[in-house]
Amino acid sequence: MSNQGFYPPQRLLMGPGPSNVSRRVLEATARPTIGHLDPLFVDFMDATKGLLQWLFRTDNALTLPVSGPGTAGMEACFANLLEPGDEIVICRNGAFGQRMVEMSERMGARVVVVDQDWGRAVDVDAVEAALSVHPDARILAFVHAETSTGARSDARALARLAREHDCLSLMDCVTSLGGIPVELDAWEVDAAYAGTQKCLSCPPGLSPVSLSERAAARIRAREKPVQSWFMDFSLVMSYWGGGGKRAYHHTAPVNALYGLHEALLVLQEEGLEASWARHERVHGELVAAMEDLGLAFLVPADERLPQLNTVKVPEGVDKAAVRAQLLDEGIEIGAGLGPLAGKVWRVGLMGESARSESVARLHRGLRQALS
Ligand SMILES: *Cc1c(COP(=O)(O)O)cnc(C)c1O
Repeated sequence: MSNQGFYPPQRLLMGPGPSNVSRRVLEATARPTIGHLDPLFVDFMDATKGLLQWLFRTDNALTLPVSGPGTAGMEACFANLLEPGDEIVICRNGAFGQRMVEMSERMGARVVVVDQDWGRAVDVDAVEAALSVHPDARILAFVHAETSTGARSDARALARLAREHDCLSLMDCVTSLGGIPVELDAWEVDAAYAGTQKCLSCPPGLSPVSLSERAAARIRAREKPVQSWFMDFSLVMSYWGGGGKRAYHHTAPVNALYGLHEALLVLQEEGLEASWARHERVHGELVAAMEDLGLAFLVPADERLPQLNTVKVPEGVDKAAVRAQLLDEGIEIGAGLGPLAGKVWRVGLMGESARSESVARLHRGLRQALS
């Protein structure tokens, strides 16, 4: 076993990520590896950056794919924007808000948490109240699309609050990007990070990030350099920054970047608005299918993400056995996290997986598993 090649089966990935990756994107990752300072590669980096700006709907110069999964982009944003002793307000309505709290505490920040029930959107009024009693706060951080619960928060309203209270806004859009509208410039978001394996349908391992000029200025004005050498954007930009001269910082994951670039071309061919509409339409089909099986959703209809659906496990049903039986049929769905463990299944409809056929297969598979 150990000295044979690994040939994974073809699964239908309907969990919280990764989502299915198209043959076209997989084949792009198999193109020849070239040097990461090769002039051809440098041109390719510029093209990739341009596509990311298009995707984030921003002109931010500081837009690049961090070499690492979504959590790496997340940690990079917090590490660059926070200094020890800074006050940060964090909206926590699920596992990823909790991760923000843990990271900020490790970085020596003074953390103010605005809690909300898991399964609900962030309460904008509660955030406003917290910002009012914490006038020294320098950052407002929130998760746009909480993958642990399926709740969608009002990113535009939260970013506006941050401005009004003289904070930088720091947004997790790992699961939202490509699946629902994300508008960095129109919403005036200062820092955002995402991941490749959710609605972008790339293999996991890269984290697109984008920072506004205000955020870049905050980094330049730091008293102490960023503790993490690897994640220090002022150093990373010597490689990813424009101007034609690229200096070695770390070896870029060349082939993974081919995949990201190709996936962004696929998305551009479909059109961002068309992709958002497809996620919304397929979500409607899933709602109908789950209702047909008598299954209920955790999140109120007007706060639901189309791309991540928390479906309540009915009384008396062995939730793990159902997931195992679905996997036997080649369908992966996710389990509940934290306080939702054992209570919900998480059904992803992300990127390539957001298709009518996915819903039809899951509908059949679940009907069988539940009978
Ligand atoms: C998946 C996810 C992350 C973490 O991304 P990884 O690639 O798993 O490190 C962060 N935030 C949200 C909302 C996510 O869904």
